[in-house]
Amino acid sequence: MSDPTPETPDADKPKTPASPEEVTRKLEDFIKNTLGGQVLFTRIDGPGAKRSQPEGDEKAPEEPAEDNGKAFEFTYKPADIKAHLDRYVIRQDEAKKVLATAVCDHYHHARMLREHHAADEPGPRLEFSKQNVIIIGPTGVGKTYLVKHIADLIGVPFVKADATKFSETGYVGADVDDLVRDLVAKANGDIELAEHGIIYLDEIDKLSSGPERLGRDVSGRGVQTALLKLMEETEVSLYAPNDIRSQMQMMFDTRKGRTGREVVNTRNILFIVSGAFSGLEKIIEKRTNRKSIGFVSAEAKAAASEHLFREVRTKDFIDFGFEAEFIGRLPVRVVCDPLSADDMFQIMKQSEGSLIRQYEREFAAYGLKAVFEDDALREIASRAEEEQTGARGLVTAWERVLRDFKFEMPSLGLPELRIDGALVKHPETALMKCRSAAASLAMELGTAHAGEVKAFAERFQRDHGFTLDFDAAAMAAVAARAQREGMSVEAMCAKLFKDYPFGLKLVTRSTGTTTFVITADAVANPDKFVSDLVVNACRGSNTEAQVTGGE
Ligand code: ADP
Repeated sequence: MSDPTPETPDADKPKTPASPEEVTRKLEDFIKNTLGGQVLFTRIDGPGAKRSQPEGDEKAPEEPAEDNGKAFEFTYKPADIKAHLDRYVIRQDEAKKVLATAVCDHYHHARMLREHHAADEPGPRLEFSKQNVIIIGPTGVGKTYLVKHIADLIGVPFVKADATKFSETGYVGADVDDLVRDLVAKANGDIELAEHGIIYLDEIDKLSSGPERLGRDVSGRGVQTALLKLMEETEVSLYAPNDIRSQMQMMFDTRKGRTGREVVNTRNILFIVSGAFSGLEKIIEKRTNRKSIGFVSAEAKAAASEHLFREVRTKDFIDFGFEAEFIGRLPVRVVCDPLSADDMFQIMKQSEGSLIRQYEREFAAYGLKAVFEDDALREIASRAEEEQTGARGLVTAWERVLRDFKFEMPSLGLPELRIDGALVKHPETALMKCRSAAASLAMELGTAHAGEVKAFAERFQRDHGFTLDFDAAAMAAVAARAQREGMSVEAMCAKLFKDYPFGLKLVTRSTGTTTFVITADAVANPDKFVSDLVVNACRGSNTEAQVTGGE
């Protein structure tokens, strides 16, 4: 390390302030060297961090975004939001309605409060209890997808984290505050927009002290308390107090004369939490005295659980192991249903975000039209259902089937790939068929252009005195290459074999041969082909495969 000291010769030079990255790097080096790399530095993505990123940009620091921030506008009705969600999310109608309504309530209230505040109206403060939401539902059924599409539609930043992440680390409170700082980063430093963002926490059930609890009950409770503070109303500093980089950032911004807000108020941030809550149904069952025992099949049991979840009360969550205050801050509860094979079929068929559209685009990039048949979608849907990971299973199932096609099809030159049930069941056989279809297509193409190849060979014979004898595979290859590179077959031949007169002359000089068989290898790599001929001829082995005889 070369930390400058007052004694160094550079001491008199005017010093530019070290950037936080520089200082952090040096601190990291120092701490690693002394403590053996046990210290972890976390990153701050606050507006200040963004501003300082172009290193050496000392003259023109960007204006703080929050100073330019316009008041957040919200004009949606619940039905608008639901209509948008319907384009992407299959099923989950109840969740769509409940979320759309909660979101509208939340943002209209926020607007009213702002207007009330701006008008400085006398009288009592407007009361507003936040519409934070709990979504109950298994994995992969569209919980995150719903929230993400809402945030996209209304144009607010959205941050997702697993609640478990917080209980596994030391500084619970500070980590939870990071969610708010992440919102600011997502809003490109626009603090006002960040203050209207959505924080989504999955696996919230793991914070309970009940059947789903983590090993350390206390830390789960600690996270609940920290979250509770955020959900109520608090001010979060833009700079994390126990993150060195963040503190450096603050010093740097202060030295740069950055002014502006340094705290984010959480009053208008919407919190949505979710989890599978397995075990909660038993608590509801007990309270309601309803028996799901006796259902034999797994489906019937699952359906009974869905039904029970819809009757959940605050007390059930408390019995499950949540703090009453915490659960009280999450007044909107909704259930997302598991997805059946038929739902997954519809997801692929109908959703605007369908994976199938993505695959079609990927193949289209190589000029290949991929056509997905319904029987293929059904087969994949039922495989995905078996995976028990909701719609996530679709990606796994498709990747397994399409992996080799995605690798090989771009090179085969076929115009279309039909993905049907047979292909899904026996991908290797289908790929072999594609290969032979590609080979016969190339042959057909070669035959169709044989006249042009012959015309080139005749001209070559007239001009240079050598006979080029193209075999069928060479004709196919040259025609395919000409098509790929958008030129005529004759022009392609002229380009590929332009150096042949010289090379072949050398061969003739050694062997007397003037007739040469041109193979597909010669089309793929003409220079190597002719230089091999020359080398072999010089060695006196003039009969090696390619050279068939002399005159
Ligand atoms: P989770 O319920 O665990 O939050 P996600 O919402 O992240 O699951 O779903 C994973 C992916 O599966 C989504 O990105 C989306 O592509 C797809 N998906 C899940 N559920 C649905 C659904 N109901 N409709 C359409 N796509 C869905």
